[in-house]
Amino acid sequence: MSSIDRENSLLMYRLKRQLEELMTKEGRGTELVSLYIPPGRPISEVMNNLRQEYSTSANIKSDRTRKNVQAAIDRVMQRLKLFRETPPTGLAIFAGAIPQGEPGSERMETYVVIPPEPIGISYYGCDAHFFTAPLEELLKEKDTYGILLIDSSGATYATLKGRRLEVLHEITSGIPGKHRAGGQSARRFERLREMELNDFFHRAGRHANELFLSIKDLKGIVIGGPGPTKYDFAKGDYLNYVLKENIITILDTSYIGEQGLREVVAKAGEIIRGVRHLRERELVQYFLFQIGHDTGLATYGEGEVREQLEKGAVKTLLVSEALGLFRVFVRCSSCDYRETFTVTKRELQAFEMKIQSTQCPKCNASSLTIERSIDIIDELAELAEKTGAQVEVISKETEEGEMLLKSFGGIAALLRYV
Ligand SMILES: [Zn+2]
Repeated sequence: MSSIDRENSLLMYRLKRQLEELMTKEGRGTELVSLYIPPGRPISEVMNNLRQEYSTSANIKSDRTRKNVQAAIDRVMQRLKLFRETPPTGLAIFAGAIPQGEPGSERMETYVVIPPEPIGISYYGCDAHFFTAPLEELLKEKDTYGILLIDSSGATYATLKGRRLEVLHEITSGIPGKHRAGGQSARRFERLREMELNDFFHRAGRHANELFLSIKDLKGIVIGGPGPTKYDFAKGDYLNYVLKENIITILDTSYIGEQGLREVVAKAGEIIRGVRHLRERELVQYFLFQIGHDTGLATYGEGEVREQLEKGAVKTLLVSEALGLFRVFVRCSSCDYRETFTVTKRELQAFEMKIQSTQCPKCNASSLTIERSIDIIDELAELAEKTGAQVEVISKETEEGEMLLKSFGGIAALLRYV
């Protein structure tokens, strides 16, 4: 059973951001080219196909569309040439003339995406939009969760994968209701009932172990049911320790059986987000503990974290997904003076304009240029990668994530040493 994908939060953040950008792009006609190459497919083979597509596109009637399609294919081929072989997870390239305003303002844009997980699709297509569905698929939930509903009358076992529910098994306890037969003493009745319940719990646990432990990608289990029985079962020694350690949540449902399962499915989104957020919350809580106890093993704020990153002292970098900051590298083309700025996404354009009309503080020439502007998460991640620090992108969907952003500026670090 695997725990949460730890290294993937940065890759997933990048993919989400790239997708958001790609999905806003629209061509004037069916002239945006999308290409997907599955792992293992030789680049040379794809090149041959593209050459063929290029000659086929000569038949396109509209002059403008033909010109744009051919230019896009050309761009894709240029980018493809930079790869000796297809990356282990495959490759996606998008190119097309994107209108910037009135007709004639189109600018050729190219995007290369190396998927964080293997993409098995081989595809070439031309449309008014980029074809992003295979990448969107990667962001969807694919993990399997075990569901166990239990009360004193029986237990229901099922799996939940995405939104798909599969009932595995149902058992009944055979324990009579709470009404004792005439002549039986109340104490004896209770003792007997307890013993029967204990036997049933053991049986229910054995079934759970058999059914759930063999599932390969099981992310964890959810226990549900009406009343307190489910808590007694979860606390006791009935489940294999692997399952016990991976109880994601214990839910109240009104029923066991199919109706109870439906209640769990209705809460599935909550459960799945819960798993993702668990790791984030643990990390931020650990950070807060270090700060609160003044251990010296944590720090925050852009400047301080950057300094520690450069020293190689950072073990884990925590950055808020909602930072919205850019790092702008400015250089003077006459005296090579360099300066770097942190700017909000909203200010970015105005800042870039302003720089062009600003004099160099060293030589006074009006020759400042922007070398590059990048998302600060990528820039800090580059620094982190150089020194082997882990990067965790934290959503703001938890109280802890919100706190990281609001109280600590959204940039923090756990350090290797004091
Ligand atoms: Zn200068």
